[in-house]
Amino acid sequence: MNSDSAISSLSPPLRPKSKKNPNAIADDREVITRPAGQKSASRKCANLECYVRATEKPLKACARCKAMMYCSRECQAAHWPTHKQWCQNNVDHVAELAVADALGFDGGLPPGMTLVELDQKLEKWVKFHNSLLMAATIHALSLPRDLKRARQYLLRVKVSWRPDNGGVAAKFFRVDDAFLIDMESARAKGGVWPPSIDHVVKLREESEAMRRGTVAAVALECEPLAMQIVPFGSLRDLSPLRIQQQWKETLIRIAESGRRFTRFE
Ligand SMILES: [Zn+2]
Ligand SMILES: [Zn+2]
Repeated sequence: MNSDSAISSLSPPLRPKSKKNPNAIADDREVITRPAGQKSASRKCANLECYVRATEKPLKACARCKAMMYCSRECQAAHWPTHKQWCQNNVDHVAELAVADALGFDGGLPPGMTLVELDQKLEKWVKFHNSLLMAATIHALSLPRDLKRARQYLLRVKVSWRPDNGGVAAKFFRVDDAFLIDMESARAKGGVWPPSIDHVVKLREESEAMRRGTVAAVALECEPLAMQIVPFGSLRDLSPLRIQQQWKETLIRIAESGRRFTRFE
C-alpha cells in the first residue's frame, strides 16, 4: 500500500466548518491525538478544525494506522496532509516490531510475550491512564505558571511490565520513575528522540496556528520498546490550577492502584 492509498477512496475535502466550540473550557483538558508509537486517546475528531466529539458521533479510525480517529471522511481528508507522515511512522513502527518478533527478539521481554503484544498492552494502559499522564505533565512542567514550558521540557515516564496485573489493562504497567528532560538533552539522545520531538513541535505549531492551545508531551519509556511520545493538546490558560508538587508520588500511586484519575487530591 503506498502512502496515498489511504485516502484514495475519500471524497475531496469539504470546506472546514468553523463551528464555535461551546465547551471551550472543558475541551482544555482533552487530548487530541493518539498515534501508535506516539500514543494518546482521542476523544474528539482528530481534524483540528472540527469540534465533533466521540460522545456526539462515533469516530472512525484511519484505516491504515488505526491511530487517528475522525468523525467523517471529509475530516480525514482535510487532516491527511498533516497526518500523512505520522500515519506512515505508525505503520512502520508496528511493522518493525513484527519483524523483530519474527527474528526471535527476546531481550528483556516479559516471558511469552512478543514486542507487538507488549506495544499493544502499553497502548491500552496509556489509553486508560491518559488523563493521569496529562495531569502529571501539567504539574511536572509547571504549566499553570507558564504554558511556554511545554516547549522547553518533556516529562520522561519510565514504566515496566507488572506480572501481577490480573489481566486488568489499568495495571499492565508500573511507573518506575518520572522526571523532566529539557528538549536539547532529549534531542541529543539521538535515535527516535529527534524525530519524535519534531513531531511534537509540528503538532504544537498546528494547534497554536488554529488557536487551539498548545501541546505538551510525555516521553514514555518501556524497555525493550523504543521511547514513545504521548502528546496532550488543547492546553490553554491553566493559571487557575494550583501546582501540585507531589505529582510524581500521585502518578506512581494512582497508576499502581489501577484507578482512573479524576483530579489531584
Ligand atoms: Zn470531524
Ligand atoms: Zn493513519
